[in-house]
Amino acid sequence: MRDSPIHGRGVFATRRIEAGEVVIDGCREALSDEAVQSLPAEEREFLSVMDGHHILMKPPSRFVNHSCQPNARGTDEHDVAVRVIEAGEEVTVDYAAEHVPGLSMTCNCKASNCRGFIVAL
Ligand SMILES: [Zn+2]
Repeated sequence: MRDSPIHGRGVFATRRIEAGEVVIDGCREALSDEAVQSLPAEEREFLSVMDGHHILMKPPSRFVNHSCQPNARGTDEHDVAVRVIEAGEEVTVDYAAEHVPGLSMTCNCKASNCRGFIVAL
């Protein structure tokens, strides 16, 4: 983890990662509706909804930044590379595809297909 040109701190590959490789295993917790209600506001921004379940991202997963041209994809268990990620490259996922509740943000990813403004689908 180090400072990211996209936002705050980001997660960077320390070696070349092949497409389909698990980039981050675990680092997430399924929460009940009750547990989500009692989460402090600063924790809620790290929630995703996957297969109808609330998933709380823990470090380092929660520091994976959004890109409109992501190189990884999150599931309820791990983040998987969708293409080769070179050593030193920042690991990114598409937040809209991960159904982050209440997502609404300006995107700074600088991808050629950047959507500019990201909202939950
Ligand atoms: Zn973007």
